[in-house]
Amino acid sequence: MINFNEAPYLGTEFACIKEAIDSKHISGDGKYTKLCNEVLENLTKAKKALLTNSCTAALEMSALMLNLEPGDEVICPSFTFVTTASSFALRGAKIVFLDIKNDTLNLDENLLEQAVTPRTKAIIPVHYAGVSCEMDNILEIAKKYNLKVVEDAAQAVGSFYKEKSCGSIGDLGCYSFHETKNISCGEGGALLVNNENFIEQAEIIREKGTNRSKFFRGQVDKYTWVELGSSYLPSDMLAAYLYPQLSEMKQINERRIELWNNYHKNFEEFENRGIIKRPYVPVNCRHNAHMYYLRFSSLDIRTKFINFMKQNEIMCVFHYIPLHSSPAGQKYGQVVGKMDTTDNVSETLVRLPLFYGMNFETQEVIINNIFLFLKSL
Ligand SMILES: *Cc1c(COP(=O)(O)O)cnc(C)c1O
Repeated sequence: MINFNEAPYLGTEFACIKEAIDSKHISGDGKYTKLCNEVLENLTKAKKALLTNSCTAALEMSALMLNLEPGDEVICPSFTFVTTASSFALRGAKIVFLDIKNDTLNLDENLLEQAVTPRTKAIIPVHYAGVSCEMDNILEIAKKYNLKVVEDAAQAVGSFYKEKSCGSIGDLGCYSFHETKNISCGEGGALLVNNENFIEQAEIIREKGTNRSKFFRGQVDKYTWVELGSSYLPSDMLAAYLYPQLSEMKQINERRIELWNNYHKNFEEFENRGIIKRPYVPVNCRHNAHMYYLRFSSLDIRTKFINFMKQNEIMCVFHYIPLHSSPAGQKYGQVVGKMDTTDNVSETLVRLPLFYGMNFETQEVIINNIFLFLKSL
């Protein structure tokens, strides 16, 4: 059977975990957490990178930092993972869902302005499939209306927009190191702080609302509860697992790009004949090959495709149920404008297996099966 995803694994992770254990520091912010933060700061040029338990934790921290009050609004796409929205709803914000663009499947920046109200506090762009949103336009609108920008860059670790790292462009950026992402320690994430006004608050929120980080740096002589926060820092054992992969990110992402390009080349002919749509990457974006997907012309064909592949022991999956039509999305959110692209993509997109450890022979089996299906259409 060919899995949809296999977590990246280099083989050097164990030695680092053992070292973390031997050092007798396995709680948060030990040697490996600091090393991971450094790698991320060097890569992204973010003013501060803080390892977290997940991208969701980083999004929740961002929501706390925005000091949202009930009735405040944040704008995000409906075609995204649950916690892009729920992290802000948790703080009482109303979620305003916008449609995506039909090419990149990212938040449509042309619809943003019509969704802004006097209660709008932030825009949450999601770099879908590791392909950047049009950040210049988004930042311009944020500036005009004095909004904060929190990038959900969960899928975009190692992606760039005009030579800037995704996640380092808005006020705050959130990364994921979940098993399904390019770089992974099972469950993990990071908060990138690009607006320096947020640095101190980010450290406090991450350390249960205490000024413990300042205490460890010798800047205060005892630490205490200073504002609302929670436990958002991972064990140093997880950071030790993550560190070798973060250090080898270039190699991991380049391998994925090779596989991605191979899919892309092979399906070109079928796109030209109007049978499928392939992913689109604008010229000013350098992506990380987080995902390869195809779009069919109907839900019926997609269902047949997934079943056909499954019969041939190849796992392909779809996502997302649009958040605006989910029970909680309806309770905590509202839609501005149409949702045509979101609804259509949700029914017609399928993700193909793509992971670091996949070899070309396996990929050839997948491609040949897809050819069989496409030729039967
Ligand atoms: C994976 C993902 C998340 C959640 O990441 P976790 O690290 O599992 O919390 C959030 N947003 C997007 C767009 C994602 O793809």
